[in-house]
Amino acid sequence: MSIRLQNIAKHFGKTLALEPVNLDIHEGELVGLLGPSGSGKTTLLRIIAGLENADRSPEPGRILFGDRDVSNVHVRDRRIGFVFQHYALFRHMSVYDNVAFGLTVMAKKERPSSGEIRARVFRLLEMVQLEHLAKRYPAQLSGGQQQRVSLARALAVKPDVLLLDEPFGALDAKVRQDLRRWLRRLHSELNFTSVFVTHDQEEALELSDRVVVMSNGRIEQIDAPDTLYHSPKNRFVFEFLGDVNHLEGNVNNAVLTCGDAYLHVDLPNGTEELLLRPHEVRLAEQPSDTCHLPVVVTAISPVGAEVRVELEADWLAKPWLATVRHADFERLQMRRGQHLYAYPRQWHRFKDEALAAERSRVV
Ligand code: ADP
Ligand code: MG
Repeated sequence: MSIRLQNIAKHFGKTLALEPVNLDIHEGELVGLLGPSGSGKTTLLRIIAGLENADRSPEPGRILFGDRDVSNVHVRDRRIGFVFQHYALFRHMSVYDNVAFGLTVMAKKERPSSGEIRARVFRLLEMVQLEHLAKRYPAQLSGGQQQRVSLARALAVKPDVLLLDEPFGALDAKVRQDLRRWLRRLHSELNFTSVFVTHDQEEALELSDRVVVMSNGRIEQIDAPDTLYHSPKNRFVFEFLGDVNHLEGNVNNAVLTCGDAYLHVDLPNGTEELLLRPHEVRLAEQPSDTCHLPVVVTAISPVGAEVRVELEADWLAKPWLATVRHADFERLQMRRGQHLYAYPRQWHRFKDEALAAERSRVV
């Protein structure tokens, strides 16, 4: 089921929680609403659900599910499944009864037969690999298992739309990773449209077909994860999507200077702030005529595919983070306290927000 939001805004008293937004979610899409706390994600999700009313003035917005205008349709008639952060399972009901709940409370003429309910519940429990725990109670399950039950329960009524609000937020990193895989798999097997809220960039980028980046009740950008990461529309999106190193200084005759550091750049005179991702910082033992950025290694984390190195310098207001290949790490025999020189492979600049981001490759 496609979802179309037209001119949807929300005030709580005088607080503007959501500026008028327009959003088209395609049938079968998995869309992530990503933004910092307070950016309006939950409000937008609750309006889609019908748990919250959008502003009616100055003009009422519209919500369409497919061709159906659901703006004034009650939540219970919108055919929506929900999963929230705190696994709101019924504590006094078994896993089986929790998943079956939405089906057993259906009006008699719509309710499947008890045989069909049983088959559907077991099919869902099988999909989330919990069929052997059907008789357990929520308190006898781990957090990750409870959230899988929540997913199965939400899907039992075959919703057109599944809405999830920080569904994995309360779980540890490893379990979160597993649950993302569950959601992805269920989504592609059962073919529903989902919108999930997260403040975790990695989760949004990994899981979503498209990500809606929000800040201060505004949609900043809507794009596929790779487009978003490689072509952020503004500084907020760039900074929110990953670690960022800042290089601030004054440009004079195409040389940016900051304390005893300098870098040749093809930019007009004036103050500048260049932004670099950790993988855009190269480290070497010597400076060059065009790049002199002395740094000291202050922390090293060799865990993972690359080594994460923290760098400090007098000319830096905040430490830099560089990711270095293990081979380079060994070649440079990196250690804490070592003096090295940083080289930007590339930098980004958002001097004029009206313009697209500028990027420069540095030799
Ligand atoms: P997010 O989910 O991105 O953290 P929310 O949508 O919950 O953000 O909140 C957006 C803004 O609206 C915040 O400033 C929040 O304080 C405000 N807000 C949310 N719900 C209410 C409410 N029921 N009453 C008053 N203000 C609210
Ligand atoms: Mg929220």
